[in-house]
Amino acid sequence: MLPELHKLISLQEVDLEIRGLLHIQHELPQTMRELEAQLAELLASAAEKQQELEETKKQHRQLEQEMAMLDEGITRSRQRLMEIKDNIEYKAMLKEIAFKEDRKDQKETEILEIIEQVEALTTELAALQEEIDTRQAHLKKLRAEVEAELAEQEAKITVLQTQRLEIQQNIPTSLLKRYDFIREKRQGIAVAEVRQGVCQACHMNLPPQKFIELQMDLELMTCPHCQRIIYFVPQEENSSANPAEAA
Ligand SMILES: [Zn+2]
Repeated sequence: MLPELHKLISLQEVDLEIRGLLHIQHELPQTMRELEAQLAELLASAAEKQQELEETKKQHRQLEQEMAMLDEGITRSRQRLMEIKDNIEYKAMLKEIAFKEDRKDQKETEILEIIEQVEALTTELAALQEEIDTRQAHLKKLRAEVEAELAEQEAKITVLQTQRLEIQQNIPTSLLKRYDFIREKRQGIAVAEVRQGVCQACHMNLPPQKFIELQMDLELMTCPHCQRIIYFVPQEENSSANPAEAA
């Protein structure tokens, strides 16, 4: 195989590894951001529920005050009842007391309902808070993991970039430019193996004459379908695990 090809294959291996790491670097914070957005939503609905709870408690206090006033009114009416001598007036007062007692009953029912509402809201809020706490703890742990992982990826990328510089030093500039150009247009794969006449990158057949020329290994050739630089590994070389290592 042409020596430049071996170098390009090695370069591509390093580039693909860098590309994979950069992808992870991009994906990790993305996941974090999604989780943070979910948490923000939960916090907003907890704040809303908290406000609802405060308002319900305020209504409860208001009802209790109204109840106390009704109680006071009933007590006063009962006291006056004892001072009344006139029969008609007495009956009217009894009626008034009965009316106030009715209103008191209604008020009691309202108070019981509002107490139930306060309890339900308190329970909901506690559950929500528990969910928030769990998620916050998870996010904190994840954030630390992501930061550690990002630092690790960064270190790996630095090593790989050094390797890349070493490899590319031995590749002619024009060829390197061509490689980088194809790599950008073709999802990171600029060099492709051809097996049994088929380009392994685009899976199209090479014209038979072109495949014969490729096996003669005289000059750099490109796939007529995907324009990638192509190479052929003879049978004996192909049995070794990695053609690039044979360089
Ligand atoms: Zn191709």
